[in-house]
Amino acid sequence: MTARTTAGPRIAILGGGIGGLAAAAFLQRQGIQATVYEQAARLAEVGAGLVIAPNAGRQLRELGVLEHLSKDSVRLDTGWQFRRWADGTVLSEEDLAASCERLYGEHTYTAHRAALLAAIQSRVPGHLVKLGHKCIGLDATGETWRIRFADGRSAEADVVIGADGVHSAVRNAIIGSSPATDSGLCAFRALVPAGDAPDFARRPAQTLWIGPGHHLVHYPISAGKYVNLVAFAPADGDTVESWTATATVEEFLAEFNGWDRRLTGLIRAAGTPGRWALLDRAPLARWSEGSATLLGDAAHPMFPFFAQGAAQALEDAAVLARCLAEGIDDPPAALLRYEGLRIPRTTRLQTVSHGRSHVNHLPDGARQRARDAAFAQEDPLVANGWIYEYDPAAALAGTARANPRTQP
Ligand SMILES: Cc1cc2nc3c(=O)[nH]c(=O)nc-3n(C[C@H](O)[C@H](O)[C@H](O)COP(=O)(O)OP(=O)(O)OC[C@H]3O[C@@H](n4cnc5c(N)ncnc54)[C@H](O)[C@@H]3O)c2cc1C
Repeated sequence: MTARTTAGPRIAILGGGIGGLAAAAFLQRQGIQATVYEQAARLAEVGAGLVIAPNAGRQLRELGVLEHLSKDSVRLDTGWQFRRWADGTVLSEEDLAASCERLYGEHTYTAHRAALLAAIQSRVPGHLVKLGHKCIGLDATGETWRIRFADGRSAEADVVIGADGVHSAVRNAIIGSSPATDSGLCAFRALVPAGDAPDFARRPAQTLWIGPGHHLVHYPISAGKYVNLVAFAPADGDTVESWTATATVEEFLAEFNGWDRRLTGLIRAAGTPGRWALLDRAPLARWSEGSATLLGDAAHPMFPFFAQGAAQALEDAAVLARCLAEGIDDPPAALLRYEGLRIPRTTRLQTVSHGRSHVNHLPDGARQRARDAAFAQEDPLVANGWIYEYDPAAALAGTARANPRTQP
């Protein structure tokens, strides 16, 4: 049964990932109950680590999740540290310890996804999370929705939030299927136990090794117990877009053949890598149909080159909860307000994330040298201020302004 807030609408969230659980937690803070239906038999995140940028960190702090996560996370001192593929020369780096909190009111952290998910889940009452519910479709019945599950069960709701990821069943039902094209790239993801990792990879730093057709990012997670690796390489026709598809260390290593031996040594120490084909989807012009909407990757899947997918799902959740709280008597209008506030921002992020691989993957030559020279002059923490300074409350109040602290 989808829970009913006293005299309020019954709200169903399909998908209990970072976005879906965060939406339930933000709604809970507004005194609104929502039932989360998750297809998996237990809540678990695969896919190792992720970077929690300041805009994501502020949302997690507001939920009381960041404190909960502190024993499992790592606070980064250095970020955007670009290294040359062949010899590890540092092309540029950012002193996050000195600037991040001053500019954006929050540090940058890393965490294992499972720890992040558990911390968000701690803010959602257990009886509101229904596991083993795979949504296969939605039917509009007058003002309400009937949600159909794979095992033949169904549930009714007045408001439906599709937080069911990149292959969203809710998106297919309310907007139509979202055609994907092969980007030609895939991501390898792996963990290295800290004891097997060299010193340079154990430091609280996010490092990006960039080179022809490839780049590799590493940072410590889980209070420094592991080093997380995520690397981008040609997909060679692979189009499996899944957190559970795997590759071998040898396949991973072969992609970085000839790179700095310290880096290939790090890859050699990795456990079984995951492999995720990066498929390309155009931004959607709308997310909602009546009292049903989308959130997170279901609405705006993006390439992970700005480490913003989960961050955007958290922002969606914060904005959606506020819109519903302020417009609880007219959910379709509240959802239109939500998508109107969010689509321009997530579309911009989808677009800039898309362009980034070309820059990181230049072959050696004049353009690469010009890029490296430009990197040495750039300050990505300030240049990407529009990403990190976002404030959901100000966006709702229509008062989002440039951050005076990042203005020249
Ligand atoms: C290699 C890689 C690295 C990344 N690194 C970062 C990073 O550093 N920082 C960052 O912010 N983001 C990062 N991202 C992006 C981030 O992982 C996603 O944007 C984020 O997980 C989206 O959360 P979500 O809740 O919308 O979707 P998901 O995490 O996909 O969760 C969807 C949930 O819905 C459930 N579900 C699916 N279908 C159904 C159904 N039919 N019925 C019921 N339940 C269903 C799933 O089981 C899952 O629990 C990265 C992504 C990739 C691929």
